[in-house]
Amino acid sequence: MVYVPVQCPHCHNTEVIKAGKQANGAQRYQCHNGQGERRIFLLQDQDRGRVPEIQRQVVALALNGSGIRDTARGLRISPTTVSAVLKKSPHASTRHPRVAAPSLMPLSIMFHGKLFDEPTVLRVAYAYERATEWNRKRPPIGIAPLSGAKLS
Ligand SMILES: [Zn+2]
Repeated sequence: MVYVPVQCPHCHNTEVIKAGKQANGAQRYQCHNGQGERRIFLLQDQDRGRVPEIQRQVVALALNGSGIRDTARGLRISPTTVSAVLKKSPHASTRHPRVAAPSLMPLSIMFHGKLFDEPTVLRVAYAYERATEWNRKRPPIGIAPLSGAKLS
C-alpha cells in the first residue's frame, strides 16, 4: 500500500477526501477546507478541450483556415468543444468575414474584411486565385518506396 497525499489545486490544502467518481471512472476529490469556491476537483483534467495549450492550438488552427471538423480530428477533441473554444476566443470571434485561399503549399493565405463585407472578401480571394496557380496545384500522390526495398 502506498500513501499518496492529495492536495487541493485551489487552496493547496491536504485535508481532502474522495468524493465519488466521474462517469468515465476518474476519481473525484473534495477539499475539506470549506472556504474554497470550488470544493470538488479532479487530480488532472480528463477533458483535453479544457487544457490551455489545446485551446491555444484551436485558435491558431482557426486563424490559419482550418475548419471545425479537421481541427477536432487533429487535436482529438469534439467539434462542439472546438466551436465553444472559438466562441470564447477574442481572437477568433471578431465576426469579421475572412476566407482562406491556397498559397505557397502547404500554407494558405487568409483575407480579412470589414464587418458584413463578405462580397469584397470573396472577390479579393477569387482574384488572388485567378492571379496565382496555387489552387490548381496538387500535392504529389504516390507511395514512397521503403528504403532498401527493390522495385521490379
Ligand atoms: Zn481547497
